[in-house]
Amino acid sequence: QARPDWMIKGCRRLSHMSAAPPLRVWMEGLSMFSRRLFLASSGAALWVPKLANAQNGKQHFTLGVASGSPRPSSVILWTRLAPNPLQGGGMPSGVAQVRYRVCTDEEMRKTLMDGIATTAEDKAHSVHVRIEGLRPGREYFYQFYYGDEESPGGRTRTSSPDDDSARIALAYCQHYESGHYAAYRDLAEWVPDCVVHTGDYIYEGGISPLGARMRDVGGGERRLFETVRQHNSDEITTLWDYRNRYALYRSDPHLQAAHAIAPWIVAMDDHEVDNNWASNTPQDPEKQTQLEFQVRKYAAFKAYYEHMPIEEPPTLRDMRPALKLYNKYVFGPAQIHLLDTRQFRSDQPCGDGRKPLCSDATDPARTMLGAEQEAWLSRELKQSSSAFNVIATQTWFTPYRYNAPPDGPVTNVDSWDGYPAARNRLSSVLANDVSSPVFLTGDWHTAMASTLYEKPFDPTSKRIGHELVGGPISSGCPWARDMEVMRSANPHVSHLNGQQRGYLRATFTSDNCHGEFRVVEDAGRANSPVFTDIEIRTKDI
Ligand code: FE
Ligand code: CA
Repeated sequence: QARPDWMIKGCRRLSHMSAAPPLRVWMEGLSMFSRRLFLASSGAALWVPKLANAQNGKQHFTLGVASGSPRPSSVILWTRLAPNPLQGGGMPSGVAQVRYRVCTDEEMRKTLMDGIATTAEDKAHSVHVRIEGLRPGREYFYQFYYGDEESPGGRTRTSSPDDDSARIALAYCQHYESGHYAAYRDLAEWVPDCVVHTGDYIYEGGISPLGARMRDVGGGERRLFETVRQHNSDEITTLWDYRNRYALYRSDPHLQAAHAIAPWIVAMDDHEVDNNWASNTPQDPEKQTQLEFQVRKYAAFKAYYEHMPIEEPPTLRDMRPALKLYNKYVFGPAQIHLLDTRQFRSDQPCGDGRKPLCSDATDPARTMLGAEQEAWLSRELKQSSSAFNVIATQTWFTPYRYNAPPDGPVTNVDSWDGYPAARNRLSSVLANDVSSPVFLTGDWHTAMASTLYEKPFDPTSKRIGHELVGGPISSGCPWARDMEVMRSANPHVSHLNGQQRGYLRATFTSDNCHGEFRVVEDAGRANSPVFTDIEIRTKDI
């Protein structure tokens, strides 16, 4: 019933592999900082984090560094001590002290502040430090120290409502087995002001056999499905499993580079816990009881916190499986509302999957955000004075039908299509004097750009904004063909590409949102070229 997201092995259309795009010029456009990072490893195109002065022969900063939750005067810095990252971390039990230093220069000579953070096994020796008293719209550089060992260096940046522009990178869906993270290498090179991650940071599934297999994907087409590297265990359910899975993903040097280059704002989707879970309902309720799912969710949330640059959630201390991830951030002309569409939603209607809406789908009591988040979003949107109001959400807001009219639309009911009353409520807020709404969205492993209308599938109703979805970082898209053949039934969609991995570069200025759809030539290679597929200005679509 639920889509087999967890068994995706990648997809590349062989017939389109012949025309190679020109290799990009490596050093062009690199900032001083990324130039230094990338040149640090003897001019190689790959920045491998520096692991200096390993103590007792062990390296503790194996998972890199990160920053997040950028505010005009604060950011959160992150690292984790993990000498044996794939086996629980490998730290002895007890308190460990980690020194940190924040500088205003990338050479780390001008120390702005330093301090000591303590951590212990109850948080997997992860370190979260909130740095306060910073200036808005400024770059800062940071590093951690454990004994005489130093971490890789990181760059972060505070937000500022007064910036002239905002350069936002949108990332999501990074199935480890289905592709290397060339997209993250390219993202780090861009040196964005902020990275927005809308979920599927890890996948919970087990180990797939390595290699390529040809499979029928319908319509007489066969495609190559590929597992390029493997997960480290069977499907994950315990805290031990989730920690080791995050460590596996975070061991990737390109993902580490993307974390080290800019602050991230993050919210999870389904695979951080279980495919297509909704509030207290797992994917397969017949296989796990409510209580088992609560325990699993707690483990998943705790490991998520331990590996993300986010505020410590007080709920986890009370053993409650709850995280507050939705929040507002202001970057120059863009006010970003990052949503959480998993924790508070009603269960998918009509048994989930792709189908015409049944009558229970239209129940006005059904919710995508939960009452509290929905009220918060509508209040923030109404009060906003920003030129652009970004809504960063997990699943598509754009309606998409998989059949032709005049029959009622067949849609993916895990997306906003399965929550028509909730979508109508948000659409009418957006239709009433909210300045330039732009959705930045993930989930469907397909790059897409669309114009949004107040009534789904009705281009005669009021235009309310746009949705831009970059390619998935590495997850594949077996349903790309199903979408392509129905393209003409969805004329509000102006760009669709389910064939390639990638991400979106979105640049906001006072009168424009410019989207650059970056795509990875070959997801099977970490050093694959990455190039621009198309560029879109929202005012032109
Ligand atoms: Fe995904
Ligand atoms: Ca998903």
